[in-house]
Amino acid sequence: MNYRHAYHAGNFADVLKHVVLLALLESLKSKPTPFGLIDTHAGSGSYALDGVEANKTREYKDGVQRLMFPDMSRGAASMEALPPLLRRWLDSILALPGNESGLKLYPGSPLQVAHAMRENDSAQLCELHPEEAANLRELLRRDARMHVHARNGYEALKGLLPPPEKRGLVLIDPPYEAQEAEYVTIEKALKEALQRWPTGIYAVWYPIKQRSQVQPFLRNLRQSGAKRVLRAELLVHPDDSPLRLNGSGMVILNPPWKLDEALREPLRALARLLSQEQPAKWTLDWLLQEGETAATPLR
Ligand code: SAM
Repeated sequence: MNYRHAYHAGNFADVLKHVVLLALLESLKSKPTPFGLIDTHAGSGSYALDGVEANKTREYKDGVQRLMFPDMSRGAASMEALPPLLRRWLDSILALPGNESGLKLYPGSPLQVAHAMRENDSAQLCELHPEEAANLRELLRRDARMHVHARNGYEALKGLLPPPEKRGLVLIDPPYEAQEAEYVTIEKALKEALQRWPTGIYAVWYPIKQRSQVQPFLRNLRQSGAKRVLRAELLVHPDDSPLRLNGSGMVILNPPWKLDEALREPLRALARLLSQEQPAKWTLDWLLQEGETAATPLR
């Protein structure tokens, strides 16, 4: 367990992940009934962008920072030109205590969820690394809606599903230290989770280095038991090098109605804003539609 998210917080992959997360939360909030959220790999919740770790990699500079100063990035004319979802996402980050005079802290998924949640919604946050879990618990100690579990998120899912609210979202955001083995673990966890809670929404983040590594995983998710599977990807480099993170994706099982529409313009804008040497590429498509089976060829 060497992975520390502090080195990567706010990078281009976090931007995609957290914008999709906000779209999912907004969709859940469109109904008045409360929802439950389970974050299987929660991290420590908040990351100092002027800290040692963030400054070693400076990954946030090609991520969230590009949205702060869109004039300096390709394509967007001004801050106002951001699609409303991106604007709301950025505002929620700047509303964080500590960011009053600019972007100093990057909120991890638990803090972003806490900001978006209503009084009666609840979140179960699992984090295996003892120090990260302790930091998260300390950060959220005054928020009775947020429950921190210092344990393996995949194992915890067995006891946490379905949530008492009977509607909501599971976010699976592993570090992929185990590489190929992580895909197998996720596939198994999702199959079991969908048996326990077939109507839940499941969002899984995945890294893209080489396309050939990801394709079997995505194909297998079509057989997980979900009725519909949506994929949102953003590539800032060609997906043919095993040596670096070229892009990332979010695959959403049982996505809420119209999530694809909510994501289209934000993804288009992110591709403009986050381009590096070459124009970034984005993909938003259905891996499985209602009524299709896994035998239907993958487009
Ligand atoms: N979801 C967080 C966010 O968006 O801010 C970032 C999570 S980071 C990519 C992955 C985290 O998972 C790390 O903090 C790591 O310590 C933790 N972790 C690794 N294996 C785990 C497991 N099996 N169960 C729970 N947490 C785990």
